[in-house]
Amino acid sequence: MTLAIISDIHANLEALTRALQLIKGRRVDRIVCLGDVVGYGPNPNECIDLLVEEGIPSVLGNHDEAALDLSNAVRFNRYARVAAEWTAEQLTPVHRGFLQNLPMSITEGESLFVHSSPRKPHEWDYIVGTEDAEAAFQAMKTPLAWVGHSHVPGVYIEGSEFQEPKREGRTIINVGSIGQPRDGDPRLSFFLFDTGTWTMENIREEYDVERTREKILRAGLPAFLGDRLLRGI
Ligand code: ZN
Repeated sequence: MTLAIISDIHANLEALTRALQLIKGRRVDRIVCLGDVVGYGPNPNECIDLLVEEGIPSVLGNHDEAALDLSNAVRFNRYARVAAEWTAEQLTPVHRGFLQNLPMSITEGESLFVHSSPRKPHEWDYIVGTEDAEAAFQAMKTPLAWVGHSHVPGVYIEGSEFQEPKREGRTIINVGSIGQPRDGDPRLSFFLFDTGTWTMENIREEYDVERTREKILRAGLPAFLGDRLLRGI
């Protein structure tokens, strides 16, 4: 079976549409979303609609949680907080209901799907280096954990970073971000995974970033949120 794992859409409809188009061209059996469906971007309701239409399950992200309850946005930076307030105003009751029903994690076969970390997922810790990954490995009950949250793709393998992921070991894969990549590469990022052969592939692809940027400006969201998309920061 081939899985596509997407994350951190952040209400970017152009990027999500492009990613789904690419996925449809790759004979994927199942798509899973790792949360932060909304926040930062201009199309929260439309992105939720697309996930529902395509039957894509998702876990809860910290920006989804903040849009539901703004008290969770107090620790956000100014741009994220303004965007969370804007998003909360845009969400219809149906779309709020969708976010309210998102689970903290999903376990399927050899994989755990979670937004931030297998270790205390609700504390929203970041896994950006081997030290963070080492702590998270201890909490894993499956050989694989798929995470997002940092918007930076990376593969962390227990023991050594110079080996291939193994069923007997533990591996954490950060799939990067669909709607707001932050590794200096503005192209959308997601992973494909073959559950039989254990082959994984990080897909990077361009989308109509100018259009998303214009929508952000037109919505009255901070201009920085549009500009950062052009640079992938
Ligand atoms: Zn995010």
